[in-house]
Amino acid sequence: MSMLETRFLSGKMSIRSDYGTFPVSSQNQARFYRNYSSFVLKALRRVAFQKFLKWMLKKEQIEKQAVKAVHVKVLPLRNKHGKGIAGQCDPVRGRIQIYPKTSNFCRLFKRKFGRKALLLYAGNRARAALIHELLHLKYMEDEKTVRALAQEYFRILTQKKYAQNTQSPNIYVMIFNAKRSGSVSSPRVFCDSIITPKLA
Ligand SMILES: [Zn+2]
Repeated sequence: MSMLETRFLSGKMSIRSDYGTFPVSSQNQARFYRNYSSFVLKALRRVAFQKFLKWMLKKEQIEKQAVKAVHVKVLPLRNKHGKGIAGQCDPVRGRIQIYPKTSNFCRLFKRKFGRKALLLYAGNRARAALIHELLHLKYMEDEKTVRALAQEYFRILTQKKYAQNTQSPNIYVMIFNAKRSGSVSSPRVFCDSIITPKLA
């Protein structure tokens, strides 16, 4: 397989900082979010994941050209209910945004599960969000179908990798626990279907 093939969507992915939309109280916090976004960009650009996306888009008959840009946002976004959003898709313009968890969430997560699990969670949360948002390019506002398919694709992505390693937290369960509700607004699709592990 050539370099160009394995890169697939990598060239369309970039980090977008938008300071001012989310309060960042310190230099430490600003550094945290910068590190988070570069980590996520790397996770999304992994050759193995790019190959998976290529396979998935082909299977779904979604043209690569339908994806104009994937922006890895530096700062989190909350919906009107105050819930953190994992991703967002504008199917008409072919633009996808991937959002981080808050620094506060990550601090608590790290305390409870450790640094390794946090990195595993953050990378896979972004991958799950991208899979979900890419499916919106085809299924538009059919949130139910997108959720069902996204879970199935994420399961395929993760089962091989983690099946033999019982030491790893079950990332599939962690990310898709049992979420069912959700509303969609048009034409932009805001998605919060990715579960947040309980830290308390
Ligand atoms: Zn959605």
